[in-house]
Amino acid sequence: MEKISVGILGATGMVGQRYIKLLDNHPWFEVTYVAASPRSAGKLYKDAVASRWLIGSDIPQGVANLTVQDANDASLALGKCKFVFSALEMGKEEIKALEEAYAAEGIPVVSNASANRWTDDVPMLIPEINSAHLDIIKKQQAHHGWDKGFIAVKPNCSLQTYMMPLYALIRAGYPVKRMIVTTLQAVSGAGYPGVSSFDMIDNIVPYIGGEEEKTERECLKILGTVSGEKIQNATAPVVSSTCTRVPVIDGHTATVSLEFDLPEDKKPSLEEIERVWTEFSSVPQELKLPSAPDHAIVVRHEENRPQPRRDRETEKGMACVIGRLRKCNVFDVKFVALSHNTKRGAALGGILNAELLKAKGFFDNL
Ligand code: NAP
Repeated sequence: MEKISVGILGATGMVGQRYIKLLDNHPWFEVTYVAASPRSAGKLYKDAVASRWLIGSDIPQGVANLTVQDANDASLALGKCKFVFSALEMGKEEIKALEEAYAAEGIPVVSNASANRWTDDVPMLIPEINSAHLDIIKKQQAHHGWDKGFIAVKPNCSLQTYMMPLYALIRAGYPVKRMIVTTLQAVSGAGYPGVSSFDMIDNIVPYIGGEEEKTERECLKILGTVSGEKIQNATAPVVSSTCTRVPVIDGHTATVSLEFDLPEDKKPSLEEIERVWTEFSSVPQELKLPSAPDHAIVVRHEENRPQPRRDRETEKGMACVIGRLRKCNVFDVKFVALSHNTKRGAALGGILNAELLKAKGFFDNL
């Protein structure tokens, strides 16, 4: 099978580097185009990232000698790649305009940025949960008059720690009314160079700008339904979150307490919850997408797991690893969940979105 050529916008950044590493030898996609800010444009990729290549192995040969282009000019990508991953870090309005410019050129955009997450006709995908939201893409194209281009986005990385177990319970007939979430987020989530070492070593920072709002709102769009010309948000659960930055390189952890919207005698037991999670399987597994984990949720029983260093690579960094499931004295149950923020939460999650789009025919006529 001929591989589909792909470009990375923001290729020099934390998430962009992950894309380049994870797409090396990908069975369906091949990186043929890299773009970043005007500061990097014109340099060979290997020179642009020389002092800041953060992935623990060499830059893939096929990319090292590509010349970095200016991501601000979408027309430069024409003829060089069929679609792009967007891992840009710049002003929201600038990213929104830029992603639309690529789509208008006929180049689909699979984005990690937050700029288009709240655009009504843009799907915010976790393929195990809301692949049905792909239905909105035709409407998005019609709204803009785009024939091949479109935009699909990923949610914030912190949500990946608890969306899968939450959704698995809802799908099994156990609706959730309220949740309290405290995240312990890795420093790689802030990009490079990110938070200063003086703030991070021997410390915890109890604030991440904008993150609590994302954590509390994005889950409602993901759990929503396509209705007419837009995605209609779900109304539950109500989420209250506290987001903190901790001195961990990769792997976001969350402590979660939740309350079911069910009478006492209909609430699931701890054993039933564990069964639901352990048996959870969905569209990416059915379609056998290359980056799909065999087990999207992995439950551990040790009293001191999950831990970022020990558990973040579970299922190639694509699993939600859960431990410490127990009764909650305030709500119904509580647990600790972990996911790899630059893999499931960023680049590999974006690649899984692209694999879903390809499997569903959205790249057929590029
Ligand atoms: P990062 O390390 O700061 O990288 C930012 C990238 O954007 C670099 O390639 C940079 O190019 C480029 N850029 C900056 N200003 C630009 C401009 N004016 N024009 C064109 N390109 C510009 O950020 P990151 O952590 O990789 O995050 C990238 C995106 O993914 C962000 O939107 C972030 O919110 C999202 N995200 C990150 C994570 C995570 O875990 N890190 C998770 C989920 C989503 P230069 O190198 O040339 O400056």
